[in-house]
Amino acid sequence: MADATTYSDNRQYLSPVWSHYTDIVVDHAQGPFVYGTDGNRYIDFTCGIGVTNTGHSHPKVVAAAQAQLGKIMHSQINLLFHQPMLDLVEELLPIVPAALHSFFFSNSGAEAVEASIKLARQATKRTNIITFTGSFHGRTVGTMSLTNSNPIYRIGYQPLMAGVFVAPFPYAYRYGWEPEATTAFCLRELRHLLATQTAPSETAAILIEPVLGEGGYVPPTPGFLEGVQQIAREHGILLIVDEVQSGFGRTGKWFGFQHYGADAYPLEPDIIVMAKGIASGLPLSGIAARPELMAKWPTGSHGGTYGGNAVSCAAAVATIRAMRDEKMIENAATMGDGLQGRLRQLQEEYPQIGDVRGLGLMVGAEFVTDQGQPDGKLAKAVTKEALHDKLMLLTCGPYGNVIRWIPPINVSAAVIDEATGIFAGALKRVIG
Ligand code: PLP
Repeated sequence: MADATTYSDNRQYLSPVWSHYTDIVVDHAQGPFVYGTDGNRYIDFTCGIGVTNTGHSHPKVVAAAQAQLGKIMHSQINLLFHQPMLDLVEELLPIVPAALHSFFFSNSGAEAVEASIKLARQATKRTNIITFTGSFHGRTVGTMSLTNSNPIYRIGYQPLMAGVFVAPFPYAYRYGWEPEATTAFCLRELRHLLATQTAPSETAAILIEPVLGEGGYVPPTPGFLEGVQQIAREHGILLIVDEVQSGFGRTGKWFGFQHYGADAYPLEPDIIVMAKGIASGLPLSGIAARPELMAKWPTGSHGGTYGGNAVSCAAAVATIRAMRDEKMIENAATMGDGLQGRLRQLQEEYPQIGDVRGLGLMVGAEFVTDQGQPDGKLAKAVTKEALHDKLMLLTCGPYGNVIRWIPPINVSAAVIDEATGIFAGALKRVIG
């Protein structure tokens, strides 16, 4: 076990702009567990905010990255093609829709969202973008303008990028409405927005998270995404799905949008934004888009020094192969059902858990007061107690009242049991 005195502690020199959920200094991590320099083992159900979907340091991913490090680390794409990127394309071709077989790679989620917006503007020669209430798309100047999950991301940074319009996301539980009524209302409001604020002729794209992430872990109500696609098609507006958090097996399918649409009317986004889980923790992001759109993106008008780094791409190739070979996507669907079932049992005991929802292993438990109001204080107290018993859980939602469950997608039933047991203990200590 590591001796804490062998570690230097310079935390006071780090910028206070970073908030810190724990004061743990990590020594190493493996699978669903993080080991602190304090000698403790923590169950990590945060996955570094939805990144380490294959678990920490999956041996196949580590081996692939290590092998690539010894070959070439930085192979700048404007100068050299590199094999890991070409291999990554080979892995992505079967998992994205055939219509989206053109790829651009970058480093972070925000960068990929920005790329999607820049592409949409060039391809349509229109300026405006529609996003949704509760959305989170990043923290760069462009993406914070597209983000509505919490004002902290924009206070003090105005003016924002112009040309962004916001439509209501179908968060049925918050509205207190039935799903059908919520879908109808939100689609009506989207049409209203196009009729009153952003003319279709000026609207380049509708950008949506297939499951709202930071905004509260909310899957859209049935029929909503299909309705959005229909409206987009009617007006020649592009549909961009931000799969940064919901992609790469998280929801029990490769991508969150694949839960929606029917054979007769499939959901066919024009651009998919990918990041986080794609490379198990090495920085990599990208977009997949229709080749006919990419053809309208003038060469040299976008790019970056590091985009599609060779080591990150090698890690992504190993990530996708491991997910496929070890049936992690199927595991996410099964374990997610079990996790939601266990949380629903706890909900019966604790009415303070107002709603349990999610897809696969992207699961939210929303805490409310007796009056049904968001109870962020309670959610925070429960996560604090869980951490005391070495379970790491994050909150989300504008009021911080949703506890989100983001285990690795290859998590075992035993670890889920251990975690929900700790959670039940935390509820008992906090609520009684
Ligand atoms: N889009 C979504 C849906 C996200 O959840 C995030 C990050 O949480 C981003 C974009 C931004 O990604 P990054 O933090 O890598 O820039």
